[in-house]
Amino acid sequence: MAGHTSRERGGLEGAAPAPSSKKGLEGAAAAPSNKKIQIRRVSKSFGAAGRTAPALVDIDLEVADREFVCLLGPSGCGKSTLLNIVAGFLAPSAGTVLVDGQAVTTPGADRGVVFQEYVLFPWLTVAGNVEFGLVLKGLAAAQRRAVVARYLDLVGLGAHAEKFPVQLSGGMKQRVAIARALANNPAIILMDEPFGALDAQTREVLQDELSRIQRLEHKTILFVTHSIREAVYLADRVVVMTSAPGRLKQVFPIKLPDLRDRFAPEFTQYESEITRVVKEEVAKVHP
Ligand code: ADP
Ligand code: MG
Repeated sequence: MAGHTSRERGGLEGAAPAPSSKKGLEGAAAAPSNKKIQIRRVSKSFGAAGRTAPALVDIDLEVADREFVCLLGPSGCGKSTLLNIVAGFLAPSAGTVLVDGQAVTTPGADRGVVFQEYVLFPWLTVAGNVEFGLVLKGLAAAQRRAVVARYLDLVGLGAHAEKFPVQLSGGMKQRVAIARALANNPAIILMDEPFGALDAQTREVLQDELSRIQRLEHKTILFVTHSIREAVYLADRVVVMTSAPGRLKQVFPIKLPDLRDRFAPEFTQYESEITRVVKEEVAKVHP
């Protein structure tokens, strides 16, 4: 319970289902795995030949199907770089990322991305923004309308479908971005500080909403944040990275109920433990 921390470096092999449980069904080639994302010894360096600087070193991390993993770490430790590698926007310098056992080489519809900035199309309405990917997929108009209505309702924007982005607050724009990502029905959602630009109150409202949505939609989520409180509120596991170049420092399984109370003693216990570990790393950057 509270006070439980883990020093496992990412893999959590002990938690994998016993291979014997499906013995004989699929044979050795298709070993059963609920690992949705497998990040294997991923390193990334930037710069020209001979003058490269490492940004990520030997990252090993597996994310189970339906798991919500938060990445925490000092600024510049490579969180966005790692997310971009999983998204397929960047290639690793070494190592591989597997999604459903297949190597990631390009972005794909199986991975939705939500960034900190509200990247909406300003010339489209709220509904038009959410519908965009569905048009690309070739869905019929009636089907598109139903999907758009469902996800706008889910993020509480049902009454704002015909507004344009310029008419929306930051929190509403970020809801549109989340609805748009969900509407495409990806199995995986990658979020890079999606609530980072919001005021504290709006941020908590959107955390509540994301937590509720996750209980309905069961996505596999990799979520980058600077907020330890946000990570403890949302995550099944919190992964703390070292200061640059980023390595995995410590993994904390969060053993709290799905519906969390930010003021519960167990909650604040996790918060203070993780804070201590993050501070060790931040102190290396700003001693
Ligand atoms: P974080 O998201 O944890 O703040 P980033 O992943 O953005 O960190 O950056 C990690 C390191 O990699 C930083 O030193 C950053 O300057 C560098 N970096 C990130 N993207 C690039 C790029 N496209 N070209 C060169 N250096 C980069
Ligand atoms: Mg970043």
